Amino acid sequence: MNNNDLLRRSLAAVWHPCTQMKQHAGDGALPLTPIARGEGPWLIDCDGRRYLDAISSWWVNLFGHCHPAINAALREQLETLEHVLLAGFTHAPAVELAERLSALTGGALGHCFFASDGASATEIALKMSFHSWQNRGRTEKREFVCVAGGYHGETVGALGVTDVAIFRDAYAPLIRAAHVVPSPDARLAQDGESAIDVARRAAAGLEALLAEKHAQIAALIVEPLVQCAAGMAMHDPEYLRLVRALCDRYEVHLICDEIAVGCGRSGTFFAHEQAGIRPDFLCLSKGISGGYLPLSVVLTTDRVYGAFWDDATARGFLHSHSYTGNPLACRAALATLDLFASEETLARNRTLAAQIGAALAPLADHAQVRHLRQRGMIAAFDVVDTAGQPPAGFSRAFHAAALKRGLLLRPIGNTVYVMPPYVIGADECALLGAGIADALAETLRGAAA
Ligand SMILES: *Cc1c(COP(=O)(O)O)cnc(C)c1O
Repeated sequence: MNNNDLLRRSLAAVWHPCTQMKQHAGDGALPLTPIARGEGPWLIDCDGRRYLDAISSWWVNLFGHCHPAINAALREQLETLEHVLLAGFTHAPAVELAERLSALTGGALGHCFFASDGASATEIALKMSFHSWQNRGRTEKREFVCVAGGYHGETVGALGVTDVAIFRDAYAPLIRAAHVVPSPDARLAQDGESAIDVARRAAAGLEALLAEKHAQIAALIVEPLVQCAAGMAMHDPEYLRLVRALCDRYEVHLICDEIAVGCGRSGTFFAHEQAGIRPDFLCLSKGISGGYLPLSVVLTTDRVYGAFWDDATARGFLHSHSYTGNPLACRAALATLDLFASEETLARNRTLAAQIGAALAPLADHAQVRHLRQRGMIAAFDVVDTAGQPPAGFSRAFHAAALKRGLLLRPIGNTVYVMPPYVIGADECALLGAGIADALAETLRGAAA
């Protein structure tokens, strides 16, 4: 297929995600970009035009597209075992992956439940928390707490703990909403406040809720260090230390959703490590398979696991997905973990993160840029108009301007962010910095006109 065929047939037959399809039609349409193949951090269309995948294809890709080592592992797995059910059967890729992930938590989270996507991991953590309290006779613990602006997926259960109006409001009548506590987003600092002060203020908000309602609350779910979908809202690790202590004190489970920030994205393998804590549940997905195949994992403690260990079938965790523990996906994840070791990824990413920071640094002086910030392999800034407000239509216009410059970037509202694969080089960082500055100038000129 050529580019035009691909676009025409896609618009006729494919209902694209996260999209008002009508915006792909008519004058000034939202761009739809045909992709024929991938190579490292690059995506390539049918005519050979290249785009730097600066957002890791929605935060999933860690080591670039078509990585030779992951490809080889998958080829071998494909010729050995493509899939088998994981109820009453087991296989080496699932066992090895569970063991290795548990080891990465220092053995604190020694039980690994597999699913296929991030939203399912959220559902599993919520159900496991609730059910474990039920099994322990704490039947009144049936409510959840989430953080303002938090995002945990878009199935009906996950939307209950997702505080993003555009995804949630249309389905409000279907949703059992959680309690929402203040965000520790460092951008909320008032005059003279530091990021730690904001973290403490947010934790005090949680404490007030727990002091009153802890008897009814099963779990708190947080995105450690970076609330990504909220617009790369970053907070001080102090917040996680405080919420861990509050959860212990009030007997509430702590769920760390590291679907986006896990697997080295925040600078450490798990983001929660930077606070020196462990959660009761850890959700992983996105980068876990290197961005190759749908896979998610919920890791939990002996204590939670023990609450289900019983003679009664119904006291077990009977949740299942058809593709639970798919061997190909697990094998892609094992090959991904191998790369962390063989490439010394976390150490190399420190250098790379500094290069990304340097490439964006000149933007700090831009009159319409606010809150240039970075945590590991995520960097972001907010754009305002001359009145200090989010410019209308910014995200779409900037996305199009970046594509023209061979950059795949998708701002969240007025927040421009980069979250590239861990294999971009110094040249590509420089390209990114220059391309962003250029696309920003074009977008702001357009907005002023
Ligand atoms: C993407 C994401 C999810 C949902 O994962 P899906 O695979 O898209 O269902 C949940 N939580 C966080 C923090 C995410 O970034």
